[in-house]
Amino acid sequence: MADIGGGRKVLIIDDSKFDVMLLADVLRNMGFIPICSNTSREGVMVAEEELPSIVLLDIVMPDIDGIETIKLLHQKKNPMEMPVIMVTSLDKPEYVKAALDAGAVDYVKKPFSEMELVARVRAALRQKQLYEELKQMNERLTKLAVTDGLTGVYNHMYLMEKLKEQFHISSRYGHCFSFVMLDIDFFKKVNDRYGHSVGDCVLKGVSKSMKESVRSADIVGRYGGEEFSVIMPMVNAEGACVASERIRKSIGEEEFICGEGRDVEGVKITVSIGVSSCPDGHIGGYSEMVVAADKALYEAKRSGRNRVYCFREGNIKEFKLNGGNEL
Ligand code: GH3
Ligand code: MG
Ligand code: MG
Repeated sequence: MADIGGGRKVLIIDDSKFDVMLLADVLRNMGFIPICSNTSREGVMVAEEELPSIVLLDIVMPDIDGIETIKLLHQKKNPMEMPVIMVTSLDKPEYVKAALDAGAVDYVKKPFSEMELVARVRAALRQKQLYEELKQMNERLTKLAVTDGLTGVYNHMYLMEKLKEQFHISSRYGHCFSFVMLDIDFFKKVNDRYGHSVGDCVLKGVSKSMKESVRSADIVGRYGGEEFSVIMPMVNAEGACVASERIRKSIGEEEFICGEGRDVEGVKITVSIGVSSCPDGHIGGYSEMVVAADKALYEAKRSGRNRVYCFREGNIKEFKLNGGNEL
């Protein structure tokens, strides 16, 4: 039976020292580490500190009654994360109902049968385990749904959701924010010369470099193909252009080491960047942010690539650090 508890903690809250001892013996034999409290108030505090896997709780307690205690126990951890089994001599249906309604997962009558207690604890742990697996799976799926499979940065769908959200915040509160669109220059040539797996490796390297060049509050994503975007909350056009210039420079200086064994290649690339910002009299919706950044990007490409262009009130200008800027 020792494998059921697996060294996990169980909290026993009961004002009867004799019952606590009996319960602790059974649970210790199941492989749990019993922690005991003789008052509800102390029990709730211990639960917060020790985070037991399961709680056995008496209904009739001198300080706070068991029904109220269940609610207190579940303020921080929900009934599936910290299951509570009521252990009590009050077995009237009204008490059972009140305990289950308050969040208890089960109910054991005193004097308890050891066999029944073991079975009920085991059943409660099974439910908890299933819940935790589901929760983890859900977290994994949620992350996958917003992530680009190749590069690990956010995907197009997430970028558009966040852009929409930022646009609404900006319109409502007058906060500024910026949208950066980056396109790798002559990327087709990288694929043609080195093959697609090296191309993929460069895409990963570019996204890594972008993440390292921006603030943690900025949202880096893959817009599609060899195009990447950054949403920069609370950043104006000037700030976004400075950050974009930093991105352009660091990618341009990097040698992306790709391939394996004798086929290792050091690949050099450059990127062109278009920037749009809000508020801007010429931008009336979140999708116009993309159009504006795209227009700026187009100008960056047209005028020779490897540069940053900025859309500002309908005008598109090149951004250069250290003077010459009229944003
Ligand atoms: P420009 O400077 O005008 O942007 O030229 P470019 O060659 O980068 O642009 P173009 O749009 O002609 O080509 C984009 C290339 O990006 C073509 C496509 O094969 C490549 N590409 C898009 N997605 C992926 C990907 O996931 N992996 C790899 N290896 N290549 C990709
Ligand atoms: Mg492109
Ligand atoms: Mg390109």
